[in-house]
Amino acid sequence: MHLNGLDTLDRGFHELIGFRWVVTEPLLGDGRLQRLHDKIKAPENHPRSVAYRARQDPTTPVTVYTTPELTPDGNEVTAGTIILRTKGCHWWWSSGCTFCGYFNDTREDAGAEELEIQWARSLETLSNHDLGMIKVYTSGSLFEEREIPLSFQKTVLQTASDLDIHLVVESRTEQLTDDKLEWAASIHSNLTIAIGLEAHDDEVLKFHINKGFSVNSWKDACERIRAHGLRSKTYLMLKPPFMSEADGLDTCIEWARACLSKSDDISVNPMNIQRGTTIDRMFRSGEYRPPWLWSIVALIEAVHDEIISSSSFTRLIVHPTGAGSVRGAHNCGKCDTAIAEAIERYAIDRDLDDLLSMDCECRVAWQEQIHLERILPVPLGINLSRRGPVERRIVLSG
Ligand code: SF4
Ligand SMILES: [Zn+2]
Repeated sequence: MHLNGLDTLDRGFHELIGFRWVVTEPLLGDGRLQRLHDKIKAPENHPRSVAYRARQDPTTPVTVYTTPELTPDGNEVTAGTIILRTKGCHWWWSSGCTFCGYFNDTREDAGAEELEIQWARSLETLSNHDLGMIKVYTSGSLFEEREIPLSFQKTVLQTASDLDIHLVVESRTEQLTDDKLEWAASIHSNLTIAIGLEAHDDEVLKFHINKGFSVNSWKDACERIRAHGLRSKTYLMLKPPFMSEADGLDTCIEWARACLSKSDDISVNPMNIQRGTTIDRMFRSGEYRPPWLWSIVALIEAVHDEIISSSSFTRLIVHPTGAGSVRGAHNCGKCDTAIAEAIERYAIDRDLDDLLSMDCECRVAWQEQIHLERILPVPLGINLSRRGPVERRIVLSG
């Protein structure tokens, strides 16, 4: 919608595209029915997004980097992360998740040959590091042949086997059949398969995330992974779209507890706004604020004892992407760096006292918000967003 008078000027959410001001339409609040599917697909087909993808090189990985990590047996190692440029996720082709911006990193012509070149380049980049783990992300599912040719799936598994190193890959649930898992385990069994469950709640999966699979399909996949002697990792999302801070925190604590017995690792991902996504649109319209770093601290505090004493030896991992930035989990701006570092330290040393010793005056504001959201009927919360007029937030929250 283009600016055409005071009506639209009043709303105040404008973006300069080319020579024209374009209104970033809010997703909520005007009372009309809207199809989530259309909102999800629109940015992918935007000329800017199409042009951006066309500029990328299908023989170059999206990124390669190293981080400190813990192996499943508790050793501190350097992990190499390789994010490959692939054809993208088959679920995204037909629908897609509301927060997923991976379509930005895809190329339709990334076939077996291109992936092999990306792989060689990635290993070359990592060749100076003494790696104890390798994580391979494909903006979709490694085990989906419509996205990744079988020959390249084998390359990844075989390389990890030759290096005798722990491998982490990602997959949706529908690819994790007994046949596929048996095949993967026969090549490399020192393997963790990460599944983006996001929410242990079918309603949230359907209406907030548009995940396209159910909690039961995740449960079955985790059981099959274990049956084949492999490890599972479950991603949970802290504060999915269309949720208040308090609901985001309370539900994520419940979900972590519910996943404890089924999954070997639980990785909590606080929402990080990726460009061109549905959640990005809400964010730019003042309808969503990423979670507070204090919520991450509260979540860790709530589940720490259960995780540590769990008979399943499940590990809790929290790496807040973009922490401290306005698009990632953030606090007041003054304490963000220190709190984000304390959360990162916890991922390695599990020192809860260190984490809980952190403080800042903004903690009171966060606490008050959580308290109010738990007692007031405001489904979308009362976040003081850094963007958008206050009147609009009140209308949306009511
Ligand atoms: S399943 Fe994963 S890669 Fe596919 S659309 Fe959802 S978040 Fe994105
Ligand atoms: Zn602060």
